[in-house]
Amino acid sequence: MTSFTVGQARVTRIEEVLERGFRPDFLFPGFDPDLFARHPILAGANFYDAASGSLMSSIQSWLIRIGGKTILVDTCSGNGKARALPLFQRFHMLDLPYLDNLARAGVAPEDVDIVFITHLHVDHVGWNTRWDGSRWIPTFPNARYVFGLAEFEHWTTGEGPKLFPENVAVIEDSVMPIVSAGLASFVEPGDELAPGLTVVAAPGHTLNQLNLVYESTSGGFVCSADVFHQPIQIYAPQINSRFCEDQDAARATRARLLRYLADTGSLLMPIHFGPPHAGFVRREAEGYRFEPAIPLASAAA
Ligand SMILES: [Zn+2]
Repeated sequence: MTSFTVGQARVTRIEEVLERGFRPDFLFPGFDPDLFARHPILAGANFYDAASGSLMSSIQSWLIRIGGKTILVDTCSGNGKARALPLFQRFHMLDLPYLDNLARAGVAPEDVDIVFITHLHVDHVGWNTRWDGSRWIPTFPNARYVFGLAEFEHWTTGEGPKLFPENVAVIEDSVMPIVSAGLASFVEPGDELAPGLTVVAAPGHTLNQLNLVYESTSGGFVCSADVFHQPIQIYAPQINSRFCEDQDAARATRARLLRYLADTGSLLMPIHFGPPHAGFVRREAEGYRFEPAIPLASAAA
């Protein structure tokens, strides 16, 4: 189990899956394979499976324990969800021990106070709900599920379904039951979830994606969601995934976050990086490099 202490917070990675994902030239149209030669860390086994030519892809939540609160950031893909579409095969009718992994971190579903959702894509909202035999019910019954109103409207009355029709069923089985149960709570950039833990705008991947930034006198972190899918984008920040809705905004958000991370030394906590799943952004002559973080020893985690 991967954990870090940052300021007053203890953060722990809750794994849904770590597996071979997309090929780099599919995920990143126009991908330049020379990047692997120029930056050998990117071609290492933690981030790339050379045998299959696929990027290593994690799907995970970040559990944040701070000031007596238990906060879960993004909820992966979920079990038992029908995703029988070519692009979504990877998420179809999963049966993965996500809740067991949460239990190993000492947390039962009832213990979660806040579920923070960065954006409403298939691999970020799945465990919002679970199947109880007759319907989809909230997995975390005592939680306030927090997400952006603009993101919600994007998928209900806005352009989302047109841009990404595959994701419509996801809204129906993993978001609407939360709203119906009265557990949804909308936030805006600038809102604070706990002292020093602030919602910020991170538009581009989706038009209204949110990040979570923690700042304290003894360190900070950024839950960056899909501003970065892979460490490749730290070395080549102009590269967007094929799933980014507003390509220019995605680049601008990435550039801003890279500057912030290099200036502050805050821990980058993305959702899809291979081991150790988090790290630091350092400046170097021609741009930035990724420095993987060293997790707490598992006995102490
Ligand atoms: Zn994602």
